[in-house]
Amino acid sequence: MVQIWSGPDQKPISVDVEIKAGTELHQKKRCLEVCAGMSVSVIIKWGGQEYSISTLSEEDTVLDLKQSIKSLTGVLPERQKLLGLKVKGKPAEDEVKLGSLKLKPNTKIMMMGSREESLEDVLAPPPENDEVVNDFDIEEEVIEVENREENLAKIARRVKDYKVEEMNPPREGKRLLVLDVDYTLFDHKSCAETGQELMRPFLHEFLTSAFEDYDIVIWSATSMKWIDAKMKELGVTDNPNYKITFMLDSAAMITVHTPKRGVVEVKPLGVIWGKYSEFYSKRNTIMFDDIGRNFLMNPQNGLKIRPFMKAHLNREKDKELFKLSQYLKEIAKLEDFSFLNHKHWERYLSKKQSQ
Ligand SMILES: [Mg+2]
Repeated sequence: MVQIWSGPDQKPISVDVEIKAGTELHQKKRCLEVCAGMSVSVIIKWGGQEYSISTLSEEDTVLDLKQSIKSLTGVLPERQKLLGLKVKGKPAEDEVKLGSLKLKPNTKIMMMGSREESLEDVLAPPPENDEVVNDFDIEEEVIEVENREENLAKIARRVKDYKVEEMNPPREGKRLLVLDVDYTLFDHKSCAETGQELMRPFLHEFLTSAFEDYDIVIWSATSMKWIDAKMKELGVTDNPNYKITFMLDSAAMITVHTPKRGVVEVKPLGVIWGKYSEFYSKRNTIMFDDIGRNFLMNPQNGLKIRPFMKAHLNREKDKELFKLSQYLKEIAKLEDFSFLNHKHWERYLSKKQSQ
């Protein structure tokens, strides 16, 4: 609601205006809100210390708050449990706006969560977080998000600031394969004695075959410590039959505002394309993830893989990586991937194989 002074008698009239999140006007509105006392200030209690956060406004979401907490404590948003942050008796979801929580200034909030410092921490299943169930079809959101300037600016910042630790140099003339970890390469929820038991069938065969035509990058929405430990556990890091070019963690991701689902974190390939423009581009990159919204900034390059869950039940049945290695082989013959629709990869493959 905006009030405008109008007419000869200068009486205010009220007009309903929708201001889209992420626009310049939205930024200005946020500044005004802060000036008008609509900012949100909270104190986070964690590990015997208190952290004050006062840079948020009522329009920001619980996920924005968690991101701020992450930058202060190093605890990943998905590992944070914020006590007392409730809506109708239930813990507030990530997309809930802080304004709707009616927090008093400097409300103290207790945070539970650890930095994943020990190997036990990193191998333990993460807390319940049914991202797969909550995933959405990206087509409905994508057009507005992909080209928005603020999102491109965030990518540019990652290109500049995110430090890639190369494990092996990029190879001239190779395509690029970017792989998610959880539910894509192994089942991270089931319990097992070793990571091997939870590994997706054909993983090493798949990577060996892909390595002939593609540089391989691992990208997981967790911390590098975790990714490192998992890849070692699965025998990927030092495998003699293929080499990983580098790995990216959650710090290379960006948050984007989507019109319908609020704030979500995504994996923008633009970060890699910006850093390695002489090797990789839209034309030669493919990315596998079980969560489609991770492709929001580059939908055409994403292939939504079926999640690998319940490893003990499905270990004998799952042939996804076996079939996908054939798809990768098939499309590696192409100069340009831009006209492919990876949604129909199985159809494409069976057509090529019957020729
Ligand atoms: Mg995943």
